Amino acid sequence: MDTTNLPISIEKVAKSRLSEVDFSKLNFGQIFSDHMFICDYKNGQWQDARIVPYGPFSVEPSLSVFHYGQTIFEGMKAYKDDRGEVFLFRPTENYARMNKSCKRMSMPEFPEELFDKALKTLVDLDRLWIQPGLGNALYLRPFMIATSAGVQANPSTEYRFMIITSPVQSYYKGGELKVKIADHYSRAANGGVGFAKTGGNYAGQFYPTALAKEEGYQQIIWTDDATHQKLEECGTMNVVIRIGDTLISPPPTERILDGVTRKSVFAVAEKLGIAIESRSITVTEVLEAASKGTLKEIFGCGTAAVISPVNAFSYEGKEYRLPDLEDSYAKRIKEFLLNIQYNKSEDPFGWRVRV
Ligand SMILES: *Cc1c(COP(=O)(O)O)cnc(C)c1O
Repeated sequence: MDTTNLPISIEKVAKSRLSEVDFSKLNFGQIFSDHMFICDYKNGQWQDARIVPYGPFSVEPSLSVFHYGQTIFEGMKAYKDDRGEVFLFRPTENYARMNKSCKRMSMPEFPEELFDKALKTLVDLDRLWIQPGLGNALYLRPFMIATSAGVQANPSTEYRFMIITSPVQSYYKGGELKVKIADHYSRAANGGVGFAKTGGNYAGQFYPTALAKEEGYQQIIWTDDATHQKLEECGTMNVVIRIGDTLISPPPTERILDGVTRKSVFAVAEKLGIAIESRSITVTEVLEAASKGTLKEIFGCGTAAVISPVNAFSYEGKEYRLPDLEDSYAKRIKEFLLNIQYNKSEDPFGWRVRV
């Protein structure tokens, strides 16, 4: 059976929860909109595509995902402009990456047309949950879990794909972002799953990050597992370093997640005439630049926060501060990106997708 055009049944909520939401006091990813999308994989095919009221569902305790972590997710946003039009940002990039994650985790791919239809139908149904205004968005969380019952350590034969959505404001609010450069822990290894958006990659970060927090650092800049010399990612964001007037970011490898925001930051930088280098960069190079005064900016980039400038970092117990710049590339690029996402400017790259 061709599942690409599976019909989606829709069961609407009897009463929307929208009026109970205080949009001025949102914590990231805590409140979910009225509806969710579900599709199940059984007997080798996707079936029963449906949109239903958001809510819990019951499963067996032996469910494969609980024991062996066969799970993947994506993160994207829907934005509203001042006229109430709703847009997605480069959704096909997320789709392609999701299937890369699925392949690595031995999970079935999800059909592209169905992904596209599910996403747009769901966002359209809950479009009142999207507030206009920069920083406001509906965070979209597609994910897939292994749903076979039984504790055999084998790939599941059954899966559930879902999309849940959550109204958000910008991710990091105010305050300084101080990060610690990892000298012992790592988030990924060669031949591993670092490039996949899979649960364990994040669970493994929680403990080292909690230790860093005790020292006063909110995030870790991950370094390569073999030498702890090459910078890899900043928390759950890609990392970009400005030395002189050049932006440098380690290229996505097996160990580094191929971020849509990172890609977009580079495209915008190029358009603005800012020099970019996609190459690996070592701690030594960063420290040398810091001592020479040529280290200008470090920032993380990802869908949730777009761009998060780092104010200070620590390495082997010593703290280094980044300068407060008038002409911050992070700020310029972020503005350019937000203007595209919120339909406040032309979209020279064709990234917006109207819902
Ligand atoms: C999701 C994610 C990113 C950012 O990817 P975007 O597509 O820009 O949101 C970067 N690093 C990790 C580890 C991630 O999980």
